[in-house]
Amino acid sequence: MRDYVKIIDRLKRLDLPLNIIDTVNDYPIHLLRLESLTDIPKNILITGGVHGDEPAGVEAVLQFLARDNTELLKRFSFTVIPCVNPSGYVHDTRENRDGIDINRSFEEEKVREVVILKRAIGQTQFSFTIDFHEDYEATGFYLYEGKKDEKYLGPKIANAVKSIGPIDTEDSGEDAPDIAEGVYKVASKWGTQGLAPYLLHYHSEHVIITETPTTWPLEQRAALHLGVLDTALSYY
Ligand SMILES: [Zn+2]
Repeated sequence: MRDYVKIIDRLKRLDLPLNIIDTVNDYPIHLLRLESLTDIPKNILITGGVHGDEPAGVEAVLQFLARDNTELLKRFSFTVIPCVNPSGYVHDTRENRDGIDINRSFEEEKVREVVILKRAIGQTQFSFTIDFHEDYEATGFYLYEGKKDEKYLGPKIANAVKSIGPIDTEDSGEDAPDIAEGVYKVASKWGTQGLAPYLLHYHSEHVIITETPTTWPLEQRAALHLGVLDTALSYY
């Protein structure tokens, strides 16, 4: 069992407005909006904890929220959902309490977390979305990228962050075409059951899924996630 109360406490200690968008199995799902200092910001969406047994994503989101983002807020507004699957987080399961993989359910109408996320996102369009994940079998990090204009940034991003830790050189095994070493295309054959493909189709010009190896220390995994985020934003 992991302690979700500690996550809630860290969120409450932030000097940021904290919205509870709904609860699942009595666990609140939070959403924070970091409003830009400019009138014409680009909208960015950051999500963690879609898979409950991948805690580095949640950690990365919490570290993002706790740091000073003043420079980024001159250009961007952020919508941030730190933990999409709190019951999975608590019980250390990939799936939610009902045994459902949320990341394969975005065309399902009855999966609570999916319904809650869709309602929270509403009609919002994002310039860029990042979804933090982990891989138990990987020896290094890798990325999935989808971009409507197909001008991929993933190869440059992977190169920029490999000082944090090595790129995984194994094939992703997920039936995804290579863009570059350690960067795979969000494949159209996946449909829109996954969060990132769903967002790419309906809500976002550009999506990246980061995957860190669970064997790395938590801090290194969180640093990699944030390194990818910051590098991607540097191109906007
Ligand atoms: Zn995952």
